Amino acid sequence: MMQYVFDALNEAMGTTPYSDGDRANLVHLSNRHGMTVSFMDIGATWLSCTLPIKGDHREVLLRALNLEEHQHQGAYFGAIVGRYANRIAKGKFEIEGCLYQLDINNGENALHGGIVGFDKCRWSVSAVTANSVTFSLSSPDGDQGYPGGVSISVVYTLDDDNRVQIDYLATTDRCTPLNLTNHAYFNLAGECSQGQALSHSLQINADRYLPINPQGIPVGDMLSVTDSGFDFSQPKMIALDFLKDANQMSAKGYDHCFVLNEPCCGELDDAIILMSPNKDVTMTMRTSKPGMQFYSGNFLSGYLGATQCYENHQGLAFEAQYFPDGPNHPEWGKASGILQPEDVYQHQTCYRFFY
Ligand code: BGC
Repeated sequence: MMQYVFDALNEAMGTTPYSDGDRANLVHLSNRHGMTVSFMDIGATWLSCTLPIKGDHREVLLRALNLEEHQHQGAYFGAIVGRYANRIAKGKFEIEGCLYQLDINNGENALHGGIVGFDKCRWSVSAVTANSVTFSLSSPDGDQGYPGGVSISVVYTLDDDNRVQIDYLATTDRCTPLNLTNHAYFNLAGECSQGQALSHSLQINADRYLPINPQGIPVGDMLSVTDSGFDFSQPKMIALDFLKDANQMSAKGYDHCFVLNEPCCGELDDAIILMSPNKDVTMTMRTSKPGMQFYSGNFLSGYLGATQCYENHQGLAFEAQYFPDGPNHPEWGKASGILQPEDVYQHQTCYRFFY
């Protein structure tokens, strides 16, 4: 029954060559409830996540129509993003007294690792088990302007409690910024559903967020969410306060990093709880990261997706990460996202589905 889901993905993504001349390799997993997840070596991308609902497989991830479209999109559908997820102001930072200039790819800033970020790289499929797949990548010294050679592995695991867990492991041979995330867009009503995802209800375990300038760079202080449209401390329909704050206007919606409350790190508590408009599906996210960029899909319009041409806000991204522009904010401590050669980058983000 689930085979048709896999066949369709193989056909869309695995039949034409990628820019390096080879086809994409896909890996499909399922659990005992009939939930499925699929991944692709290009960008170590989480391509698909289906939930068995009412005799059907409901796709809850957005993706490009096919590999051709995937190569030309700038939405980062489901990809692993790095070296540094989110923006670095003017692509500049200083480490150990040396100034570095990254490639610029978003206005005057560097976004999501640069022009050829990890989302565009072909990762090795280094292990596949009955419920997991491991992707690995070596990023050489100087890659997109970043110092140091970095080795990364990302493990996706699907368990029988409907959890999709992402384990990140990395080391470097020189001090360097590293901030890996997954850029999946969710629509729990279904990828093929009409209407905006803004009618989902959302709760975020964060008392503070980082206000940004019109270029999406944090302006400094963390602000309290209280009495603002950024207050998701109780479940709230996203549309309710949409575009209500001046700080949402230039971003055309939510595109902000929330400072997750301390106890929600690791296995302890949910960072977010997302519920479909008719409340038939709930998704929670837990993470060891200190921040979560909530991006309400403000620039999705016009992308050819799996079953339709997307509109803005058709999917929602919840990117667990260090803070944007972290390398220029040493005062943020660990959240500045700098990896030392003697340390191991080890993080975990887990999405769980209830239906
Ligand atoms: C960023 C957005 C950007 C999107 C797609 C998000 O993570 O925060 O500003 O438009 O990725 O590139």
